[in-house]
Amino acid sequence: MKITRKQFLQIAGASAVAAGAGKLVTAVGQTEPSGTASSGAKTRWGMVIDFQKCRKDEGCSDCLNACRLAHNIPQIPDRAHEVKWIWKEPYDRVFPFEQTDYTRQAFDSHILPILCNHCGTPACVKVCPTQATWKREDGVVMMDWHRCIGCRYCMAACPYGSRSFNWIDPRPYISHINPDFPTREKGVVEKCNFCEERLAVGKPPACVEACPNKALLFGNLEDENSNVRQALRARMCVCRQPELGTSPSVFYLM
Ligand code: SF4
Repeated sequence: MKITRKQFLQIAGASAVAAGAGKLVTAVGQTEPSGTASSGAKTRWGMVIDFQKCRKDEGCSDCLNACRLAHNIPQIPDRAHEVKWIWKEPYDRVFPFEQTDYTRQAFDSHILPILCNHCGTPACVKVCPTQATWKREDGVVMMDWHRCIGCRYCMAACPYGSRSFNWIDPRPYISHINPDFPTREKGVVEKCNFCEERLAVGKPPACVEACPNKALLFGNLEDENSNVRQALRARMCVCRQPELGTSPSVFYLM
């Protein structure tokens, strides 16, 4: 079934309603019924990536593939034209300021997934001249590709390199088009959307569901009983460059 832009935006709107109603996805790779969080609690979606679990299976790219298939992400051989929503980088590039010479020895040969941090104070949103990107009440930083004029101010503002620009028409590079999600055009910026289209129907993000090692958790950071909050309490965690004041919603368990 092919969906129109109007239908897609209706789904996006429904996601916010579902979040407000407390329909929360809090478990690893599965949907928990509503009522997991206290009724009426605020929602701020967040992700926790378990570095120790992920590093055991570094050749795995199930999360990347699931995202690619769900969101019509092209595979463009020319790295200068690459479009990335979730991808993997070496530890020392993900956390360039979080290590000493000694920790580097322990970690820098390992790679881990990165994606948009869905920042609490997103630098990208502030600079967009057309409001093509905005933060929802549940913390998801959205993009409207029809409002994007391709100025790339958001890309310059994002300190994490989480946005990609379509320098060429991406559609010839999509292996299997998912008719339930829009494709993009040359000249617009895109990035991870925290699978807001799946949140709208009570599902966790595709990457979380696809991970065979249960290394990715997703849930409500505002709910102290959610699995993400429990994980953050139980283990040492870091986020990328917190000193910038962007307040990332993606955390790494070390
Ligand atoms: Fe914006 Fe970058 Fe933060 Fe994502 S990681 S919300 S693109 S500033």
